[in-house]
Amino acid sequence: MRNKQIAVILLAAVAVFSFSSCKQKSIKNNKMVTSEKFGSFKGKDVFLYTLTNKKGDIIKLTNYGAAIVEIDVPDRNGNRANVTFGYDNLDGYLKGDPYFGKIVGRYANRIAKGKFTLDGTQYTLDINNDPNSLHGGRTGWHSRVWDAQVLSNTDFPSVKFTYVSPDMEEGYPGKVICNVVYAWTDNDEITIDYKATTDKNTVINLTNHAYFNLHGTGTGDILDHVLTIKASSYTPIDSTLIPTGEVVPVEGTPFDFRTPHAMGERINEKNDQLRFGKGYDHNFVLDNAEEVDASVYDPYSGRVLEVITDEPAVQFYSGNFLDGTQKGRGGKVYKYRAGFCLETQHYPDSPNHADFPSVVLIPEEPYTSSTVYRFSVKK
Ligand code: BGC
Repeated sequence: MRNKQIAVILLAAVAVFSFSSCKQKSIKNNKMVTSEKFGSFKGKDVFLYTLTNKKGDIIKLTNYGAAIVEIDVPDRNGNRANVTFGYDNLDGYLKGDPYFGKIVGRYANRIAKGKFTLDGTQYTLDINNDPNSLHGGRTGWHSRVWDAQVLSNTDFPSVKFTYVSPDMEEGYPGKVICNVVYAWTDNDEITIDYKATTDKNTVINLTNHAYFNLHGTGTGDILDHVLTIKASSYTPIDSTLIPTGEVVPVEGTPFDFRTPHAMGERINEKNDQLRFGKGYDHNFVLDNAEEVDASVYDPYSGRVLEVITDEPAVQFYSGNFLDGTQKGRGGKVYKYRAGFCLETQHYPDSPNHADFPSVVLIPEEPYTSSTVYRFSVKK
């Protein structure tokens, strides 16, 4: 009898919880997106979206910075763990985070001395990474509340985020309307589709800045993760992490990941490039010759991450500036090199390098870009 009573109370509690936590719900072919309030910022509501696929694997997103907050995927024994950095609540993000899971814009990566010239006019940007401008400036798109729409006529749980960036925001010309659609497939793939239009010529370079640790976050560094990047060349940097302009073969350097190498295997070699980056913090020029552009295997958990993109490059960042001051979801501490990023993008500082692939966005031709992060296990 007592057990029965407890069961009834529990059921009632679950019902109340589900009702209060699911403001929007969309279910088709077992696909599901739920949302709950995550906080509010400058008078705008911020939500946490939970996307569950047919396997029961979960990702969480928020419209603050259009960010990935959590990715729960199984290891080789079927045990799920969160493999990306995020916070338990909006406050964590508002205190300032190193772009955890965010969409970075209007220009991901660095622009030298915060200056570029387009159509004969020089533009001046925020210097937030002395002496350069980084990731769209202090109030870049990572720090904005995006509009959100749970999509209902899609094959997989999907959320569309929209941000309208006014003319001259952070010093960039043109009003840009940007949409980012995240979908969570039944094959444990996060697909990220970007679209942007402008009313004036401008520059654009968008990426997702997720940090990954395939052991599960908060459990050691990433130096044992085995990385492959299908890139025959990379763009060396100066001591301020700005490309020198050269595109150099990786052959015979610690930047050759065309065959798999542990991230930590060569990271401490005596090498000026590794010294400037304080580890890996470099733009790899993708060969774009195979379906998968980069992959990471964690021998400890068996988890595998594959990256597929139509972007010409990827920034491999080995978490060199993490220092344990960030406490993320579930109280996990993000220590030195406890996470890595594979940021698909155009080359850094392209507006100042005419021979790099163009990042100019014109009103006549919308910007589109797609990246997939695919999770699996190797037995
Ligand atoms: C940059 C790093 C930077 C990190 C966090 C990466 O994209 O390349 O230099 O520290 O973002 O801001």
